[in-house]
This record gives sequence, C-alpha cells and structure tokens, in this order.
Amino acid sequence: MKKRIKLKKPAKIIFSLFMVIFILFILVFGTYFFLENRLDKIGYSHRAAYNIITKFKIGYVEDYPNNKTLNAAFESDLYQEKNLEHYSKINYQKHDNLIRNINLLLKKGYSDREISMILAHGNDSDVYQFSKRERVKYLEEFFVYDFAKLSHYDRYIAYMNANGDDEETTIIKVNLDLDKEDYMDSKQVNDYSKLVLANNHYYLGEKYVPKSLTNVPDQYMKGKDNQAKGVNEAVSAAITMMKAAQKDGLNLLINSGYRSYRDQEEVYQTYLELYGEDYVNKYVSKPGYSEHQTGYAFDFASGVSNVFANSEEYQWMIKNSYKYGFIYRFLKSKEEITGVKHEAWHFRYVGKEVAKKIDTEELSLEEYYAKYLDVN
Ligand SMILES: [Zn+2]
Repeated sequence: MKKRIKLKKPAKIIFSLFMVIFILFILVFGTYFFLENRLDKIGYSHRAAYNIITKFKIGYVEDYPNNKTLNAAFESDLYQEKNLEHYSKINYQKHDNLIRNINLLLKKGYSDREISMILAHGNDSDVYQFSKRERVKYLEEFFVYDFAKLSHYDRYIAYMNANGDDEETTIIKVNLDLDKEDYMDSKQVNDYSKLVLANNHYYLGEKYVPKSLTNVPDQYMKGKDNQAKGVNEAVSAAITMMKAAQKDGLNLLINSGYRSYRDQEEVYQTYLELYGEDYVNKYVSKPGYSEHQTGYAFDFASGVSNVFANSEEYQWMIKNSYKYGFIYRFLKSKEEITGVKHEAWHFRYVGKEVAKKIDTEELSLEEYYAKYLDVN
C-alpha cells in the first residue's frame, strides 16, 4: 500500500499542476475569446481587440461602439495613450496612415473638429504634407466647403489675395485651374460621359473621338449643304426639343455639332489668318480643347432670323432647353469661369437631371463640375 502511494504522489502533483495550468489556460483564453467576440459585435477588429484587451480599454471602447477611428488607433503601432480621447472624437477616413497623421496634427495643436475637417479634404499623402507645415490660419474659412482641397491651400490664399473673390468662388476657380494661364498644364480628359468637361484647362487631346456619333437629320439643319453630327443620345434629345419648339410655332435648327480635332484645327487656323491672335484667343478654342469635340454640344440657329440672339427661338431656348437636358453653356455672367465670351447659340447636352440642377442653381458646367463631380 505504502509503496503504491509513494509512487503515485509525484504523478498526482504533476497531474494536478497540469490540471491547474490547463484550467488557467482555458480561463485566460476563454475570457480572451469571450471579450474578443464582444468587441467584434461592437465593430472592433481582432487586431484592435488584442490591444484593447491587453491595454485594459474595454470599458472605454464600449462607450464608443463602431467607432472606426478608435478601431484604427488600436490596430496601429502608433497608438498613443494620451491621444485616446481625440481618436474617439475625430471622424474616420480610409487613409493608410490615419493614426500617424492624426498624431502629427494633434502635435500641431489642431482641434478634433479641425482634424476631422483636414482629413476629409485630402488623401493620405495630402494630409501628411499638410501636417508637416506650420499651423494654417484660415482652415475653417475654406474647408467648410466639401469641394475645397487640402493640397490647394496656398493657391487659395494667393488667388484670394490677388483677386478678392469670396472663399467659395476662390475655391471653385482654383480647383478649375483658373489661377493658371489658359492651356498651361492642362488636365487630360478621359471621360466619354455626357458630363465630360472640356475647356481651356481640360484637354481632350487628338485621339478623343466620341462613340455612337449620328447625323442630325437634314430637316433640322440650317443650310442645305450643312451636316452636323453628335452623340446619339444628344442628337435624339435635340430632335425632341426642336419638335417641341415647332409645336410652339418656332423654327429651331442646328448649325453645327461634333467637330473632330482636325476640324477644330482648321477652324482655328482659318480664324487666326482672318482675324489674328487676339480674336482667336477670345473666341476660338484651340484644337483638343473644344466642347464640340465631345459630340454633346450644338450651335443652334433660327430658321427665321439670322441673328440667333435676336430670335424668338433664342428666348424659347433660355426658358425651355433644360427640360430636354440642354444647358445655356456660355453665359455673359459666367465668362470669367468658362473662359469663353458669351455665345447665344451654343448649348450643351448634359441630361435632364443635371440640366435642371444647373438651371435652378444658376451654375456654369465648370461650377457644377467643381462643386459636385470633382470632390475628393
Ligand atoms: Zn459652339
């Protein structure tokens, strides 16, 4: 008996020790997985959960369910305990180095609200560049506008000082590169949609040829040997519109539509020889920059009067064209933004929805683009 007990004792101790360790192991991991699961349910990743649990921040995090910035902070190696309160209040952006940038901006003395604003107006690298500069003076003034860009801050300040426009106008103009010379560092356009922007700063290039070009039927053309083309959708809309004008007793016609790069080159050259450089700079787009190359623009005409601006058809177009998806493209009041002198005859197809918005808000296509399409 004694022998048996003697033999069993060390084994028993080892077994008990093993059991204790095993139970502890189960308890620790059980608790860990239980907590991780609880964090998962309130929107925290496994990676973040590890740090939250080991830093004993579960209680804190539970007050901020589904807080993406907080999640990113706990996922990051750059997490700083002293910034915890800020992480929970700063609006999240999907940036690779979000926490590094937030830490840097906090160091510069920006408030949580200001940091949220900064993050919303640029990408990861814009924010990083911005965080390295001295604290800026006019943050709120520009960045209350959704379409303001962090990377343009200095250009906004310079343009505003030089021109005295208000903040909103300044942002729109600088975003459209109007602080640069015409045709200088133009943006290459790769957009074939009906909202494509082409002007003295947005370059279509030699190879840009719209798809589905169709002829405008002869009966809608001004002049017998005139033939215009346009993108199918725009041509159909123009026909519907001209039929509606007809019903109102008018004779609305088309003078010209699509012009290829080569066509525009010819037009440009002809006008240059006839009227000189000053004239073409004001009135004729350089090849590759003309809206006519998009296939969405038409010059309209009256079958009654030779001066469209004096015709009833023109008055009708001002009132009704938006209903058919067309906008009055080169208004007198928008010359500074469009960079083109007023043209009574030139209308651009953008579709009904956008045409209505542009008409209601009294915008140019450039302003529409800057405010609604070209947002970070
Ligand atoms: Zn035109």
